[in-house]
Amino acid sequence: MTRKARATKTSAVIDRRSFVRGTLAASLAAPAMAAPAVAQARPRVVVIGGGAGGATAAKYLVTGGAELDVTLIEQNHNFVTPFTSNLFLAGLKPYEQLVFGYDNLIGRGVRPVFGRVVAIERTARRVRLEDGTLVPYDRLVLSPGIDFRWGDVPGWSEEAAERMPHAWRGGDQIRLLERQLRAVPDGGVIVIIAPPNPYRCPPAPYERASMMAYALKARGVGGARIVILDTKDHFPMQPLFEDGWDRHYTGMIEWQDPGVHGGIKAVDPKAMTVTTDLETHKAALVNVIPPQIAGKLGRDAGLTDESGFCPVDASTMTSLIDPDIHVIGDAAIGGDFPKSGFAANNEAKNTAMVIRHMLLGARLLPVRFTNHCWSTIAPEDAIKNGARYEPRDGKIVMLDPYTSQRDESAELRAKQAHEAAGWYRGMTTDIFG
Ligand SMILES: Cc1cc2nc3c(=O)[nH]c(=O)nc-3n(C[C@H](O)[C@H](O)[C@H](O)COP(=O)(O)OP(=O)(O)OC[C@H]3O[C@@H](n4cnc5c(N)ncnc54)[C@H](O)[C@@H]3O)c2cc1C
Repeated sequence: MTRKARATKTSAVIDRRSFVRGTLAASLAAPAMAAPAVAQARPRVVVIGGGAGGATAAKYLVTGGAELDVTLIEQNHNFVTPFTSNLFLAGLKPYEQLVFGYDNLIGRGVRPVFGRVVAIERTARRVRLEDGTLVPYDRLVLSPGIDFRWGDVPGWSEEAAERMPHAWRGGDQIRLLERQLRAVPDGGVIVIIAPPNPYRCPPAPYERASMMAYALKARGVGGARIVILDTKDHFPMQPLFEDGWDRHYTGMIEWQDPGVHGGIKAVDPKAMTVTTDLETHKAALVNVIPPQIAGKLGRDAGLTDESGFCPVDASTMTSLIDPDIHVIGDAAIGGDFPKSGFAANNEAKNTAMVIRHMLLGARLLPVRFTNHCWSTIAPEDAIKNGARYEPRDGKIVMLDPYTSQRDESAELRAKQAHEAAGWYRGMTTDIFG
């Protein structure tokens, strides 16, 4: 298509799509960042967050044509995947293999802006960066991931996380946790505080305990123990994890539900203690995985409800609070959404399709997605669960869930461990490739 024909088609589509928002044309006339004249004629889609959800969305928005002006705003130059970071803790994967850059997306036509967004100015339909830059949008995709309810674990704070890491968002925290794990001495106690629902990657705290036990065993640390203080009565694939802990790490991992420990009363990062109703643990390492909410930006922009997450219409991932904004990934809520990289990637592709339909009249297929989640108990021993999902009455509904079984063969478990490695390669290529 010639440039002129494309511009004519685009304006026709914008006219046709003015149902999306009556002020769309006015927005297109708003001051823009320095950009070529042709780019300004294209509908502007801004994506905030270059993680599993945001980077996928940006990529699929430019895939299939350059009719959209797509800007990806990310505060870091690299993304460190939280997924498979537990294998890094275990010494089974080098840190460098968790790190991804944005060059491929840029090569595909995504415009990068590296900086922290401090505000979404919803009425003006633009976002404001820390350095004052304003980036206008016609549609916004928000994928900021999670934040924490910092005050909910008594004694724990952002500062305390430098001694008692969460390591739940990749980056420096996961390296800190790995350094601390390497320093656990003979007889040392590790305490993991596991979060209430809903939270990012439900099986991951228990995979983490497995991988920590594996690392201690591999290093020959004698008599070390891992105590999981849970805020829930049960956790995903519990019989499978407990069976694996008995087989691989006999006596090393103890799980306590609130009925046993009676509640977490305080953590003391200086003394490295965790006090429950039952006892005080003097620990060599404390991993606090706190209660979670949507990334701060979603909350500051008034896009969250009482759950702390951003409610969306599952058939379009459109915010129920602002119809110009799509929220995807862990920050979104609306039915049975799993909070995983797998799901964020699926949601992003559906959202890109919906936006290309809204702005360009591209073909719309029914929104559907799947989620599969592998958890490594030991090398060559991985379990998995998953389901497919579809929107019904605006909410996402889980269909056909499945889970690994206790009596599976060692061959099947080994096969699943290899599947997990293959999934990671495929997924990160899909997001960043
Ligand atoms: C230990 C662990 C293991 C896991 N294992 C798996 C697994 O096996 N399979 C799986 O599918 N999932 C797994 N997950 C979950 C997965 O990591 C998340 O669900 C996924 O990353 C969510 O994607 P997202 O886009 O919502 O957020 P993220 O991937 O966290 O991306 C958010 C991005 O937004 C950026 N950002 C936030 N605020 C701003 C701002 N104001 N300005 C600019 N940029 C901003 C951040 O820097 C970040 O890059 C695991 C998680 C953990 C912690």
